[in-house]
Amino acid sequence: MLKIVVRLYLITISAYAGAMYFVPDLIVQAFHGRYIAYNLEQARGVQRLVVKQFEQSPKAQWPAVAEVLSKDFAPLRIELRRQLESDLDADERGRLQSGQYVVRLGDWGYYETALAPLDSEWMVALINPPEPYDINMLSWTIMVLIGAALLACLLFWVWPHWRDLQRLKATAQLLGQGQLSERTLISPRSNIGALAKVFDTMADDLEQLLTQQRELLNAVSHELRTPLTRLDFGLVLLYDELPPASRKRLLQLVGHVRELDALVLELLSYNRLQTPGQMGERVEVGLLEFVDSILGSFAEELDGRGITWEVRAESDLPRLILDPRLTARAVQNLVRNAMRYCDERLVLRLSHDEHSCVLTVEDDGIGIPQEEREQIFQPFYRLDRSRDRATGGFGLGLAISRRVIEGQGGTLTVGQSALGGAQFKIQLPRGR
Ligand code: ADP
Repeated sequence: MLKIVVRLYLITISAYAGAMYFVPDLIVQAFHGRYIAYNLEQARGVQRLVVKQFEQSPKAQWPAVAEVLSKDFAPLRIELRRQLESDLDADERGRLQSGQYVVRLGDWGYYETALAPLDSEWMVALINPPEPYDINMLSWTIMVLIGAALLACLLFWVWPHWRDLQRLKATAQLLGQGQLSERTLISPRSNIGALAKVFDTMADDLEQLLTQQRELLNAVSHELRTPLTRLDFGLVLLYDELPPASRKRLLQLVGHVRELDALVLELLSYNRLQTPGQMGERVEVGLLEFVDSILGSFAEELDGRGITWEVRAESDLPRLILDPRLTARAVQNLVRNAMRYCDERLVLRLSHDEHSCVLTVEDDGIGIPQEEREQIFQPFYRLDRSRDRATGGFGLGLAISRRVIEGQGGTLTVGQSALGGAQFKIQLPRGR
């Protein structure tokens, strides 16, 4: 809001100052004739009076008359001038020669000097002095206060717009984070009411569409599991009936069926995580013990494969409140990947700062190219080099992990490890 106010203030003040500077001159120039005529009328009475005073005195006393009149009419100055020595343009000279009065315009179209001929040689000048400093200041104060009043009106008008736009922005952000039931709730009487209505309708459609999609995926996955289980069961029963030569082929088929079943299970998990309110469980855990318990299930396999692995933890790690089942699953995915793609080393680091706890999983493998670091979190995204089933799963692991971590207010990112491979970093907020 402060930014808008400052911008609005600067624009208003600049426009106002520019207008004050240029507009009066432009108007006076455009209607110069009318201003001259008006000021001639305004000054004529005083000029006539002054000229009369001179006419009643002999020419020799005119300087003295001018002096007395100047005192009487102060702060208006009255000066006796020779026409020839004065700085007159042709038009002014012509008017004075023909006995007419002349005025010169100053600021805002008011006369600054009025000239009246006394004879063919002399003339009297009435000079309006500039406004005194305090009056000038007061005039500017009036202008500034009018400008401030305008600005206050503008702010009064802008404030509800700003509030509603903020609301729209917050709703868009929450929708983007998966809170599909969020709506703007902006009054239809608001100036952006129509826009907000369109936005809310769009959110309704989006929610409906995604819910339908999820329900469909869920239903299909569930429906697939039953025939797959039957197929698995049937194939296993066939094993004994087949001649030994065909048994190998049958086991391969069972392997494919189980792989399909695993995919359906992954899909169901991913789908479930998309549904709001899935991160229900909240348990306080010590980070190091939590990670130790996860690694316990991998230790044998890691050692069996000859992978060197270590956990480096800061000494005073705080306790964390998290969903242990889902968080463990996210960490397991990272460790399993590191195990698959490392050459021979895997390191887990645990640290914390004022706001969050950080868990990194690093390996010394091939790493992930910079341009693909965001895509690998998309469901079913697998890097080309790992299309071979032997190196990976279905490309759902990281999508599930990120969903789990973000669902708890944290972040999961990937970068380059100092070991040479990939570095996955989980950041979970403290005190949740
Ligand atoms: P998958 O189950 O296929 O491994 P993931 O979602 O876990 O799916 O990972 C997506 C892709 O990211 C993988 O196919 C792999 O190419 C890449 N990847 C994940 N972890 C690593 C890692 N530690 N090093 C190199 N590549 C990785």
